[in-house]
Amino acid sequence: MTMRPFDLKNENYPGHREGAGLETDRIPEDAVLKKHGEFISFLKRSKTSVDEKETFRNYLSDLPDEEVIGLYEALRDEKIEWEEGFFYPNIQYLFGTAFEREKDYREQQLWRENSQQQREVTRWYEEAKEKSCVWWIENHIISRHSISSCMSCGACTALCPAAEFYDFSPRMIMTIVQEKDEAEIIELLKSDTIWYCHQCGSCKPKCPRGNSPFGMISSLRQLSQIKGYHVESVRGRQQFAARHLWGGNLWNRACTLYFRNPEPIAHRDFGPRFALYFKHKEEMFRRIGACPDMDGSLSGRKVHPDTLDEVRKLWQAGGVLYLWERIEEAARRQAEELGISLDSYHEKVKSEG
Ligand code: SF4
Ligand code: SF4
Repeated sequence: MTMRPFDLKNENYPGHREGAGLETDRIPEDAVLKKHGEFISFLKRSKTSVDEKETFRNYLSDLPDEEVIGLYEALRDEKIEWEEGFFYPNIQYLFGTAFEREKDYREQQLWRENSQQQREVTRWYEEAKEKSCVWWIENHIISRHSISSCMSCGACTALCPAAEFYDFSPRMIMTIVQEKDEAEIIELLKSDTIWYCHQCGSCKPKCPRGNSPFGMISSLRQLSQIKGYHVESVRGRQQFAARHLWGGNLWNRACTLYFRNPEPIAHRDFGPRFALYFKHKEEMFRRIGACPDMDGSLSGRKVHPDTLDEVRKLWQAGGVLYLWERIEEAARRQAEELGISLDSYHEKVKSEG
């Protein structure tokens, strides 16, 4: 691919508002969109304060689920012709909003209710929820395969990258699990410890006993969410933000990280080059032939609804929707106990720790 010189000031490309002259505040013609014109203008204007988010929520609370989902989809699918393809200008206004979070919550509830397969997954989890943590460790497929016998050699901790930065030891976790003391396991599930693991997998191939602390920790995280213990710790509570960040990307854009997500303010360690890249990310994407919010095959693309549908079915079959619901439920309950709105809670857990 030949790289051509790029005029950052004058070049036209999707996402470059001044250059492209996109009428992003325009109220679209589609009947659904027209009906909700005021809300849409608000959505596009807002880097919303908590009060404004309340207005969002109040507006949405009066709408039935189908209308909320239909409005989101109509906005998502609105497109304009761009060179030989289409550009979807509203995706950038939708990602990460209270609107998207509310829409996802309601849409996923409908998916769960309407699927026999989901009901089977849910039944297993619901039964597991009522049993002891020791029962889970002995029966959950991942934990069962993650430990045979641990001899506490510490090889896993010695090579664990997370152990370098946190007060964290996979050896200690394996010891607690192996001892099968219910109270100690519950304490572990309520702590930040299980969330410090990066899930890099380095510990698994090095264990002389063929154990997998990596797998065990992933299983313990599920158990913590099912029992609702995760909200007792800072990192655990942050699962609510994660469920809507990565979960929102997976559910709506079929990728874990949407290219507009990693803002430099949250990644100061990436340095000034990253900040410069981020500022000009739309140009960069165009230069390498990717397609920010356009039809296409590289990162940042608009995902075809049929593809999204297939991918969603995979998460559903794996029990992800059940776990997301537990996280959502626990967050809503804790927000209520704290006397704050769900969006304030979202801000709180994101900035904690
Ligand atoms: S899990 Fe494996 S590597 Fe880690 S302490 Fe136990 S036996 Fe050693
Ligand atoms: S998977 Fe987790 S516990 Fe294992 S080495 Fe990586 S960070 Fe450490």
